[in-house]
Amino acid sequence: MRGRNGASAWEEAGPPSARNGNRLSASARAGIDKINHMSAAFALSPEVLAKYQPVIGLEVHVQLLTRSKAFCGCRNEYGGEPNTHVCPVCLGLPGALPVLNRQAVEFAVLAAKAIGCRIRETSVFARKNYFYPDLPKGYQISQFDKPIAEHGEIIVSDAEGNPKPIGVTRLHMEEDAGKSLHDGFPDSASRSYIDLNRCGTPLVEIVSEPDLRSPDEAFEYLTRLKEILLYTGVSDCNMEEGSLRCDANVSVMLKGADRFGAKAEVKNVNSFRYIRAALQYEIERQIGILEEGGRVVQESRLWNNAEGRTYSMRSKEHAHDYRYFPEPDLPPLVVGAEWQRQILSAMPELPEARRSRLASEFGLNAQDAATLTTDRELGNFFESAAKAAKSPKRVAAILLSEITMRLRAAEIRLDQSPISREGLVTAADLVESGAISSKQLKQLLDACFSEGCDFIAIYERDKPQQISDTGAIETMIDQVIAANPAQVAQFKAGKRTVAAFFIGQVMRLSKGQANPALLNDLVVKKLDEAAG
Ligand code: ADP
Ligand code: ZN
Ligand code: MG
Repeated sequence: MRGRNGASAWEEAGPPSARNGNRLSASARAGIDKINHMSAAFALSPEVLAKYQPVIGLEVHVQLLTRSKAFCGCRNEYGGEPNTHVCPVCLGLPGALPVLNRQAVEFAVLAAKAIGCRIRETSVFARKNYFYPDLPKGYQISQFDKPIAEHGEIIVSDAEGNPKPIGVTRLHMEEDAGKSLHDGFPDSASRSYIDLNRCGTPLVEIVSEPDLRSPDEAFEYLTRLKEILLYTGVSDCNMEEGSLRCDANVSVMLKGADRFGAKAEVKNVNSFRYIRAALQYEIERQIGILEEGGRVVQESRLWNNAEGRTYSMRSKEHAHDYRYFPEPDLPPLVVGAEWQRQILSAMPELPEARRSRLASEFGLNAQDAATLTTDRELGNFFESAAKAAKSPKRVAAILLSEITMRLRAAEIRLDQSPISREGLVTAADLVESGAISSKQLKQLLDACFSEGCDFIAIYERDKPQQISDTGAIETMIDQVIAANPAQVAQFKAGKRTVAAFFIGQVMRLSKGQANPALLNDLVVKKLDEAAG
């Protein structure tokens, strides 16, 4: 059972919460909570922790969103009746020959370019041999010494918040294996089943240099990488369905040492938060060993969500264990300059560039610009609304607070939101002009989400009653002026900003229904009269 790549480790031994995907189970949450108090578990003082420098390198597997598989015409689709998306090629039947999927190559090149890699014009597929029940061919088609792309980088921020480039060693193409199913059958206690639908799904593996120095940097690297992959559209990066999977390599060394320590490779981690937690656990485990005078063994370790710890899985395999050799059934892959140029013409604006553009074009702060670009659709939605609205900042504020909050509460995505672009523009303009208060906005949005209706329809129906009768507003202003002589005196003394106080008081008195524009004018007029 040696020689598994990270691709399928977690179906094999992961706890149910990991295998069944979706939401965090209670036990998984408990795992995170445990991790948050991990230092206590290892009883390491901050002084001891500070003596060591963690070193981290990540290997990320990403499934490509092609219609068909990497080397055959079978549908590349998550799920499906087990063993229905299969054919002689992906089942590895004798005599069946692979044919490379052109779209998979184009996605690999696009992803590689988006992380600044250099493309190798002629790359070579290789067989990575290992025995495992979900790998019917007995080898995985991968790339070894001549991968399609190398030498990229992803920018994260270091502990001081400065940009720090993390080297990407290589991006290579390979195919996925099938899945072993260990639960959910009446005889699961004694038997495992195999689903080969995933066999031959196109993947890219993206390997980082050991440049990361903390779990936070690793978390950010993954966040940035995922953003870039989503922007390029090469993958849906859905970790729950396994379209993005990460193995985390981690070692520690005394600060100032000139050689890295022995690393552990942590598998079976299916969310970025858990990766951060697993790395923190590993760092402290390894420091604990060194502090006791022991040696860290190079090995693969399995993360257990429920227990918030890692377990030794097997000693680390080496390249020679896989008996790599060039794939005899596929010619070298040549991606020449012209093809590269064509592929690059599909490159969208990437998150980094968009962030700075949103900040300068719409006057957003760095934080809002960053949040809006994390998700390409969110960014698109914002941009199209911001262009039509009176205040782009108001659009950003409503989108990032009120709407995001409600989407999260309803557990729906932006594309399932009841609020249309026009709805958002209307809401932002109404708040901006003072026609509705922020409290009224909240009430209207609540109605939108509970009834699944767009903002404009709800607003037309529930339009907050407005008092636009000059006489009625003046009566209220008189009341407020009479009740607040001290503030009137301030206004008389020249402090004109105190008008805002009166506007607020009358608004409250009118239960938020006074026409704001009218109220504004009338308050200033009345105060001037009182002062004059
Ligand atoms: P292996 O030979 O074990 O496959 P590689 O050199 O191919 O190791 O690196 C695999 C991953 O481990 C890379 O992401 C790399 O950056 C990372 N890595 C290598 N050495 C270390 C180390 N000492 N500590 C942490 N990560 C490391
Ligand atoms: Zn097939
Ligand atoms: Mg390696």
